Amino acid sequence: MSGRAQLKADLGKDLKRVERVFPESKYNAQVEEFRDAEYPQLKDVTYLDHAATTLYSSSLIDTISTDLKNNLFGNPHSLCPSSQATMRRIEDTRVRVLQLFNADSEHFDVVFCANATAAIRIVSDALAAHAESVGKRFEYRVHEDAHTSLVGIRPMASDSLTLDSREMDAFVGSKASTGGFGLVAYPAQSNMSGRRYPLSWTQSLRMNRPGWYTLLDAAALVTTSPLDLSDRDAAPDFVTLSFYKMFGYPDLGGLLVRKESSSVLQGRHYFGGGTVSFVMNPRNHPSRHAPHATRKSGDPHDYLEDGTVPFHSIIALDHALLDHKRLYGSFKTISQHTQALGILLYEAIKSRKHPNGRHVAEIYTDQHPSLSQLQGATFALNFQRSDGSFIGYNDVLKLAAVRNIHLRTGGLCNPGGVMKWMELSEREMQENFAAGKRCGDEWDLMNGKPTGAVRISLGAMSTLDDVAAFISFVDEFYVEKQPSLNSGFSSPLPQQGAKVKRISIYPIKSCAPFNIPATQPWKVMAQGLEYDREFCLIHQGTGRVMDMKTYPKMALIRPSINLEEQTLSIHPKGLPVSAVLQIPLREHIPSHSHLITKKCNSKVCGDSIVVQAYSEKRISDWFSSALGVPCTLARYPSKPDGGGRFMKNHLGQKKGEIPIALRNESPILVTNQRSLEPINQVISTHGGKQADISVFRSNIVVDGPEPFDEDKWLQIGFRNSSLQILGPCRRCHMICIDQDTSERSPEPFATLSKMRTINGKVYFGQHGTFLSGDNEDTGLIQIGDELEIIYLVPDPETSDTDSGESYNTDSTNLTAESSFPKTTAANTETPSSCVIS
Ligand SMILES: *Cc1c(COP(=O)(O)O)cnc(C)c1O
Repeated sequence: MSGRAQLKADLGKDLKRVERVFPESKYNAQVEEFRDAEYPQLKDVTYLDHAATTLYSSSLIDTISTDLKNNLFGNPHSLCPSSQATMRRIEDTRVRVLQLFNADSEHFDVVFCANATAAIRIVSDALAAHAESVGKRFEYRVHEDAHTSLVGIRPMASDSLTLDSREMDAFVGSKASTGGFGLVAYPAQSNMSGRRYPLSWTQSLRMNRPGWYTLLDAAALVTTSPLDLSDRDAAPDFVTLSFYKMFGYPDLGGLLVRKESSSVLQGRHYFGGGTVSFVMNPRNHPSRHAPHATRKSGDPHDYLEDGTVPFHSIIALDHALLDHKRLYGSFKTISQHTQALGILLYEAIKSRKHPNGRHVAEIYTDQHPSLSQLQGATFALNFQRSDGSFIGYNDVLKLAAVRNIHLRTGGLCNPGGVMKWMELSEREMQENFAAGKRCGDEWDLMNGKPTGAVRISLGAMSTLDDVAAFISFVDEFYVEKQPSLNSGFSSPLPQQGAKVKRISIYPIKSCAPFNIPATQPWKVMAQGLEYDREFCLIHQGTGRVMDMKTYPKMALIRPSINLEEQTLSIHPKGLPVSAVLQIPLREHIPSHSHLITKKCNSKVCGDSIVVQAYSEKRISDWFSSALGVPCTLARYPSKPDGGGRFMKNHLGQKKGEIPIALRNESPILVTNQRSLEPINQVISTHGGKQADISVFRSNIVVDGPEPFDEDKWLQIGFRNSSLQILGPCRRCHMICIDQDTSERSPEPFATLSKMRTINGKVYFGQHGTFLSGDNEDTGLIQIGDELEIIYLVPDPETSDTDSGESYNTDSTNLTAESSFPKTTAANTETPSSCVIS
């Protein structure tokens, strides 16, 4: 049995125990029966991001499509029969939504809106306007574990405080005199940690603080749990929902309003579209005494749904409610099912330890998932090495992608949760911000502390297999193994003289290489090989430089350079264009350049640059049809200073700034052909697909030296020139794109990350820069050139393999001798948002 199958069998046994010990939990085995048919999008995928959105079933989409095809739905604001039909369907859906929450339509209403954030905005706009109109201060108390959408209310309030659970207990539990006006908001379930918070806060607040309202953010809770509003005295005044998180489709949000509390929502400043009962457009500014319109009275949705409601989505929601009921019965069943899986997942992660006994992951919750009142089936965690240092969540994301595991990483839109669980003080957050930390960027560790977490979340259609897939991923990559005695790889070939085997340039950044013919010497300069990444493609909407990560088909665009004719020719392969595109390479763009190119502000790897974009239609049309994306070619003409872009965080011995123009990180990337041998050997023992050296997208492939000899290089000399080696190149899953077909596979990244990891970063190849030979600033290099290698003098302190700087050698022990000198880039925590292109 394979590791994962064995694991699944073991988890199956565990499940029996879990169900026995925690009778509230119950695995819904029926899901396994319909999952393939209802969720074909999950084939070969482990989806663990249900807290972001769960998935729609096939039959839901079929039913909606049949309904929309066969019925005429007019705009509900018209009065013709087709609009009446729409109106009726909307009214029915409203009732069915309320029924789902046991909310009596006499006492509750649902307002449809774009998403949960829009629902929060309706409440906060209305409460701020109300405070203004009655001349009161608008006080706001928000729980620390709130989503950013709740934090966003703070500037609208006259006064706002963040409370932890203990403070919340005290606040809602203490009596206050009348005359106050405020809002208490908290998540029913944390979108980050899955921690659940009590509904009783609502009731206490209502009893103790007249003039105060509660906003319960239930967007995360109701993905996998029922919510019961049958006791209207205990129910929150306002409840926010995201229906796509409950059903996967439609993209719609909702605000449940307790009608008794609804009058406070009537003071919103804006009203128009569907929410007016009479309106005129007077010449002068309307006043409070002579308003230009009267708004609708009646139910909250009558005066809160501006404009045409998203009626097709509401009709789709009606189907979603029915389809979901047919597949799962009730949210109670889903809750029991996800609870059983949640306990398994939680316990399995908790049981994983390194050989020295340290836990592999820190899970950010103080509650066991068997306590469904306190913990849902969403977990935030960070992986740790045996020495207690953290593994950056971005690295986890990259490796997970290799195993087709979909999860969420980062700050998770929950700043309070991150501060609490990562133990980041306000001051540290401010320092991180000042150092450049922004939401969604690559800075996953700062000063050794995580800036966010990995989140895994289960949903109604999760299965035992999904849990097994994640745990086997943890076992494979994060549980450190006892070093094996096996000395591993021995090369069949003796060490030979080093020679240049291949020279490649990438004339258009992120597109296919142009391999320089063997007969052709090629120019090397300070910023790299001539014409390497001289061109790029820019998106016509955003102006951003496009990369292979987002547009893998770019690998099928094949540029070649003809120095004699001074042309760049671009050949498509397997793309929907056939003609070869030719672009003159003349160094200087002619003076009537505005006809052909325009200056365009663009961004590459986060840096702002100005490129010359080709506005000629034949060129933009060619690339746009080739990739199916509105884009065009742009040029970043070579200048000796690399156009002002320089290498970042460069700690090599070379003095001064190193120009890189459009190249990602350094002027030249060098790989050793034979370093791939041990990696491919391991890949083939697991039956994986061997990798070609081209996936590393280097400029110079050296052949001859032993595997990983390059870790010790200081300089390589050729002809009268030499390259300075600057340090190892960090890798990500982009090396899994086959450069011939643009297809992805797990290798070689999966194996490389087991064999060539330092401090959680995976390395292959070396960065380099041209060092002038005879005081010249250019040189020539050609295939077959013999290379003279100058080695680093090992520093006894840093070559000590116990210093933590050596490669991870678990299970294979192949690279025990390789270790980085301290002066290389390996020691910097460089966030590399674009490791390859
Ligand atoms: C997802 C989520 C939100 C935001 O929902 P949107 O639909 O993106 O507006 C707010 N709060 C919680 C708890 C969530 O999980």
